[in-house]
Amino acid sequence: MKAVVCIKPGLLQNSEKDKPSPKQGEVLVKIKSIGICGTDIHAYGGSQPFFEYPRVLGHELSGVVEASGEGVSIANGSSVYIIPYMSCGQCIACRNEKPNCCTDIAVLGVHRDGGMCEYVCVPESAVVKTDGLSFNEMAVIECLAIGAHAVRRAQITEKDTVLIQGAGPIGLGALQFAQGAGAKVIVSEVFEQKRQFCKEQYKVHGTVDALGDVNAQLSELTQGEFPTVIIDCTGNVKAMESAVNNLAHGGKIVFVSVVKAALSFDDPEFHKRETTLLGSRNATLEDFEHVVSSLKNGKVRIEPFVTHKAKFSELIPAFKEWVKPETGVIKAVVELD
Ligand SMILES: [Zn+2]
Ligand SMILES: [Zn+2]
Repeated sequence: MKAVVCIKPGLLQNSEKDKPSPKQGEVLVKIKSIGICGTDIHAYGGSQPFFEYPRVLGHELSGVVEASGEGVSIANGSSVYIIPYMSCGQCIACRNEKPNCCTDIAVLGVHRDGGMCEYVCVPESAVVKTDGLSFNEMAVIECLAIGAHAVRRAQITEKDTVLIQGAGPIGLGALQFAQGAGAKVIVSEVFEQKRQFCKEQYKVHGTVDALGDVNAQLSELTQGEFPTVIIDCTGNVKAMESAVNNLAHGGKIVFVSVVKAALSFDDPEFHKRETTLLGSRNATLEDFEHVVSSLKNGKVRIEPFVTHKAKFSELIPAFKEWVKPETGVIKAVVELD
């Protein structure tokens, strides 16, 4: 089968690999669509923590079950999306129903080879059959689930004013789920074009120029009360650290993006607000199911958000374009026949 391998940072290569065959409890999925994620871009750029090369990237995947090993009940021909987080089922996190932060987690395309290829074998528990969604919608479920998980972490309600820091695909997902929960949403973003996009497509309450005086802009948009929830989707040290100063008293901060750095903040600022600081990692089946129902009932839309597409044979040249910010990619997907 054909596969695209990230040999080292900055180098993708077409290669031939053996088509895998499913072991007991596994299914063979013929890949139909691959969402390109920040994780893929950071792995290619060499800035992704927890990463080894060479690696087949790609963890936002949908396809069709083509064969299965012993003991599998899902029928061949089923259209599925893949939950790319393989958890151990036994560690402290798994026992406490938090498999998304399993101590021994293996994420497809990160810790083990992913789906930038024609076929993958995964445990049956990693595939979810879904009818009524396109393969492209199913491929980006994972990305949206990350945003849905962050919103669930903060238990957002209609009483909240939520600041989303960074209008990349994860931020845009979080934005839609926060709005779905009834909250008022403000977006802070460096690029004017993206701020405009959020106003036009998602009718956000306001936008903030992340390069300007963020505190003053937020104060104006919230009558001096500040956002009750800040969700960081930038992975930018300065944006993450300043969240403590830009939060409403009694508010919550959720760090979704991970940054390879130590963070520091002023403790009196943190304490006087009785800040709740939450990490958000991956997502769980509950989040995936929430995304699927939100796509089906139209509460979340991917059309404005999937800006670029390519065929698998064009993956490498397309990917090299998509990593450049000037290409204006929000979300790109790669389609297979
Ligand atoms: Zn992703
Ligand atoms: Zn575990």
